[in-house]
Amino acid sequence: MGKTKPRSPFPFLVGFFLILIFLNFWVVRENTDILSYSDFLARVQQGEVKDVRISKETILGALKTPGPSGKKSFTTVRIEDPQLVPLLQKQQVTFTAEPEMPFWFKTMLWAIPIFLILRFWSVYFRRGLGEGRGGLLGLTRSKAKLYIEKDITTTFDDVAGVDEAKEELSEVVKFLENPEQFSRLGGRIPKGVLLVGPPGTGKTLMARAIAGEAKVPFLSINGSEFIEMFVGLGAARVRDLFQQARDLAPCILFIDEIDAVGKLRSGAIVTGGNEEKEQTLGQLLAEMDGFDSSRGVIILAATNRPEILDPALLRAGRFDRQVLIDNPDQRGRAQILKVHIKNIKLDPNVSLENVAGLTPGFSGADLANLVNEAALFATRRNGESVTESDFVQAIERIVAGLEKHSRIMHPDEKRRIAFHEMGHATASLILGPSEKVHKISIVPRGMGSLGYTIRRPTEDRYLLDEDQMIRKISVLLGGRAAEKLFLNSTSTGAADDLVKATDLARSMVTRFGMSEPIGLAALEDRELTFLSPEMVSRGRIPISEETSKNIDHEVKTILEKSFRLAVKELSANRAFIEKGAQKLMEQETLDEKDILELWEKYANKKVTSIAATAQSEKVTAYR
Ligand code: ADP
Ligand code: MG
Ligand code: ZN
Repeated sequence: MGKTKPRSPFPFLVGFFLILIFLNFWVVRENTDILSYSDFLARVQQGEVKDVRISKETILGALKTPGPSGKKSFTTVRIEDPQLVPLLQKQQVTFTAEPEMPFWFKTMLWAIPIFLILRFWSVYFRRGLGEGRGGLLGLTRSKAKLYIEKDITTTFDDVAGVDEAKEELSEVVKFLENPEQFSRLGGRIPKGVLLVGPPGTGKTLMARAIAGEAKVPFLSINGSEFIEMFVGLGAARVRDLFQQARDLAPCILFIDEIDAVGKLRSGAIVTGGNEEKEQTLGQLLAEMDGFDSSRGVIILAATNRPEILDPALLRAGRFDRQVLIDNPDQRGRAQILKVHIKNIKLDPNVSLENVAGLTPGFSGADLANLVNEAALFATRRNGESVTESDFVQAIERIVAGLEKHSRIMHPDEKRRIAFHEMGHATASLILGPSEKVHKISIVPRGMGSLGYTIRRPTEDRYLLDEDQMIRKISVLLGGRAAEKLFLNSTSTGAADDLVKATDLARSMVTRFGMSEPIGLAALEDRELTFLSPEMVSRGRIPISEETSKNIDHEVKTILEKSFRLAVKELSANRAFIEKGAQKLMEQETLDEKDILELWEKYANKKVTSIAATAQSEKVTAYR
């Protein structure tokens, strides 16, 4: 609250006034007795009253000596009493009549503090909501940082190198162009689409392009802007946001960086603002559920951290469609460069393919930056146009910056990674029960290379038997097996795979009772999140040292068995792996068609056939 603006003097003014009013009441009350009119008359008659001031409605007076309560002043309600004045005269009480306060004066006395209070609140809340103009009554309007754009000129042509994603999203465009017809013809109406991918790959750009293609209004808000300091306001903003979307339909409602609101609800750890986040997320889920998508509103969201999202967000009827926007491969990079060189004067001898070849690991945003930098180099040397050497210099500069973040792959690494990936892919083709290899990629630092698979809600998980578990572990170890078989060495690149494989093996032993010597006991650490939030610690079932040793031994046995299986299957398919790695080194990605082609030609058919995709998690790539 009030992150940037200087402190306003209003709180102090209001406080000051409140104290004054309070003091006034308090002083009067403490020192004044309230008498009934008859009591007052009696006292006058007994000569106890010294003086009185008569105003329109009350009589204020002072006693000669303090009354029984020890107070000298008193007040009473005035009654129209013609005998009062004669009585006062008789008792020789000094009396004055208070001139009546003008009406405006009395009004001001009350109006000023009230005005100040209202003013204070509206300023206070407005700050929380950005520029919300409604003041006190507009508290929940989320006009603040919600952007509504009506004529977006961005189109799919501006987003390059992500053809698959475009294809998937063109359905959304078709729907938005004509919602009624689309649903009449029985098209399945998408409700929420989540764009997933590393930073700078054009997720935000893509969302805008969809709106531009469909020529519909684009409402966008950043996830972090939902989080308000006052509990309940975030939820109110969500409600309002959806209302506005309904009013504008057909339109796109885009929540950028949704991970800020959609973080996995933490059961055990109490942090500030948690309640607010949960309320906001809860409201978002409720709005999505209650949303009739046939009315022509598509909810788009983007994240580069899908793994921290609350699975509830990905459930059916919410963001049940996920579109991967990964770092571009060589061809994609050339296409992206083509989009961005439109704004510069390019030397006709520049080969964008060459530039693309020199920039493995660059994201779309990096490439846009590269074009800029190259133009700057050209300007600095007063060149006529941007040449390839400008590009090379710019690449060197950017790479120097990027290398710190280890995003760039050394050429000699390429070979190792290619074999590693082919190892995973081959193991998956042979051993995966229902996994199909959709894409193999050695593009560095994509979602895939982080071992990313699009996560589905837990309910969708199918049951695995022991044999399938072993196969799954073998697929994870396939990368390492290939390195060992073909390069006769191992590298650190498989560390992540090993962690995952070990976890799986361990859970076979300690959770699923799949190991003879350990038996049926469930021995895993269970997070006791169902306990009260104060319970921050994790529950742990005590395990004896001997059992612990046995578990380790069993895990090792399972891993060795799986590794042997992977090695056996891979060595039966040497030709396929070698050809595949070759091709990978050339073009950085193999799509489904490439893989099938190679498989048809070189695979050892006796081993197996390609399994069809069933209800499996969508596996896009391995590392
Ligand atoms: P993200 O939202 O995924 O982090 P952005 O959409 O903000 O990425 O991309 C930043 C900028 O990088 C874009 O405005 C655009 O200039 C450039 N860019 C990124 N990806 C692409 C792409 N696939 N095609 C063309 N330009 C891209
Ligand atoms: Mg973005
Ligand atoms: Zn791997």
